Amino acid sequence: MGNMTPPTKGGATAEGSTAPGAAAAADGHPTQLAKAALRRLAQDKLEPTPDNYARAYQAEQGMAPAAGDSLAGLIESIVRGIERGGKQWTLARKKDSLQRVLSGSRGDANRLQQRLRQLVGSWETDNPGDVAAAPEEPEDTAAAADTAPEAVVNEPPASGTTVADESARTPTDAHPRVVAALGQTVVRALPVKESHGDLAAAIAQAAQRIQSVGASDEAASEVEGLCERADWVLQHREHLFDQISGLCMELTASLADLAEDDSWARGQCDAMRLTVEEGLTARGVKSVNELLRATRVKQAELRGERDSARDALKQLINRMLSELDELGSQTGRFHDSVGRYADVIERADTLESLAGAVREMVEESRTVQGLVDQTQRRLHEERTRASDLSQRVHQLEGELRRLSDEVSTDQLTQIANRRGLLQAFDLECARLQRQAVDDPSGDSAPSLSIGLLDIDNFKRLNDDLGHAAGDQALKSLASTVAKTLRPTDVVARYGGEEFVVLLPDTPVEEGQQILTRLQRSLTGGLFMHENKQVFVTFSAGVTAFRLGERIEEALERADIALYQAKRAGKNRTLIG
Ligand code: GH3
Ligand code: MG
Ligand code: MG
Repeated sequence: MGNMTPPTKGGATAEGSTAPGAAAAADGHPTQLAKAALRRLAQDKLEPTPDNYARAYQAEQGMAPAAGDSLAGLIESIVRGIERGGKQWTLARKKDSLQRVLSGSRGDANRLQQRLRQLVGSWETDNPGDVAAAPEEPEDTAAAADTAPEAVVNEPPASGTTVADESARTPTDAHPRVVAALGQTVVRALPVKESHGDLAAAIAQAAQRIQSVGASDEAASEVEGLCERADWVLQHREHLFDQISGLCMELTASLADLAEDDSWARGQCDAMRLTVEEGLTARGVKSVNELLRATRVKQAELRGERDSARDALKQLINRMLSELDELGSQTGRFHDSVGRYADVIERADTLESLAGAVREMVEESRTVQGLVDQTQRRLHEERTRASDLSQRVHQLEGELRRLSDEVSTDQLTQIANRRGLLQAFDLECARLQRQAVDDPSGDSAPSLSIGLLDIDNFKRLNDDLGHAAGDQALKSLASTVAKTLRPTDVVARYGGEEFVVLLPDTPVEEGQQILTRLQRSLTGGLFMHENKQVFVTFSAGVTAFRLGERIEEALERADIALYQAKRAGKNRTLIG
């Protein structure tokens, strides 16, 4: 949006005309803003194209740098709005919604102003005498709702809303709301990129205009054009997504080729291929990411150790060679001396001179013998050390291989990870299929409950007690869950602070009871940290597995139930 340069108020005043924005910004009502934007276009002799209109509208909204007047106007209309009574917007409601807008958008001045204007606008639809008037939904309700449920700007006031009020919403009420909701959805679906800012603004403005001045053929054509552009952007993103999947597959295939020994990377490649083939989901990608990172770090450590063992072995061999060399030169010298002694003995004519030569020879042979013994001993020691080292190299290489094979186990908690879960799930599915074939009547229908558990407020635990304590919590919870469940049940770490349990032969209501009991059992504290008990709770969603579905489908239902459990106050299990 940086390329939008709205006409300044200074320019308008210099021409002696009324600044188009002054009236509009003073009360911020969308209808006024729309009119002022059109006036501004006429005054600036600009064509009323969607982009020009969007810029003019934004300028009217006070997004221009010189927005002091607009801000003052906005504050005045808030004050007026608060002073004015309302049938449904009571003073308490107004204060409450104001507070939510302020806390929800304080990081972004433009957005704050925009949302305050919407709020004031919705107050204005509620006149003291107008019994049927229902507050308009703000343009931004959904955007606010995605940050936190309590950040919703402008839910209809509960106190004043009755069944009669609901039925009093006329189709004319409904239409602008539909337009606003669709407009927001499209804008949010667009990738957050500077280059799409114009399009997003144009869509938002078109929706806002239809909300305030109604639909027309011209507006419909404009919306069609904008939707077509949005469609291209979205299709392009979808294409990009496919390309990224392709890239991941390609990388997976080349990973094994790049590895020094492909058995070190086979497990990781399988895990990654499985994730991509299943269709990319945020959770799947995150967990394979964590898996690859953990394996890479461990492998790097092992490789470092293996390399230094191999270097030590090389040095040792070099030393042994030079010692052999040294021994060779000593014995060579002795060999020369033996020749010399042979001459002396040959020429010796007295017993003394002969005895002297023999003595010298024995002396020298003793030295050489000592040297040979010493070198032999050293070579023996070094040979032992060399074989130790080469054994260590082998052992480390074996560990690297095992590490890749063991990617089914979560390193931290030592329970199954996502890959291990999928393996266990496959076995469980096969068992269910067999049972279904054995009992086609389905009288004793086999059941499998699948639960998704997420630790409550885990980020706070990490922040308060440190990451190591967070790790300890994960380990303790994993072992508590594993100990509490039956041996036939499966517990796996699904990623971060989320766990999945498979409960065979368990109807879903029973699954809910089991997890609720587990939750109650944690009230005694999970583990000790610095001599204090640490209390940890989790929320869960549990669902009944439907024969033939993929685990992702069941987990999606469990995830929705988990989300509801979080919203309902955490530390509970709901059925999805
Ligand atoms: P909620 O109750 O809504 O689930 O809130 P939350 O704080 O538990 O959830 P959120 O998703 O905001 O935070 C999860 C945190 O879990 C953030 C991340 O740092 C932490 N985490 C993920 N994996 C690990 C891990 O292996 N060790 C530790 N110590 N923390 C982890
Ligand atoms: Mg979580
Ligand atoms: Mg959590």
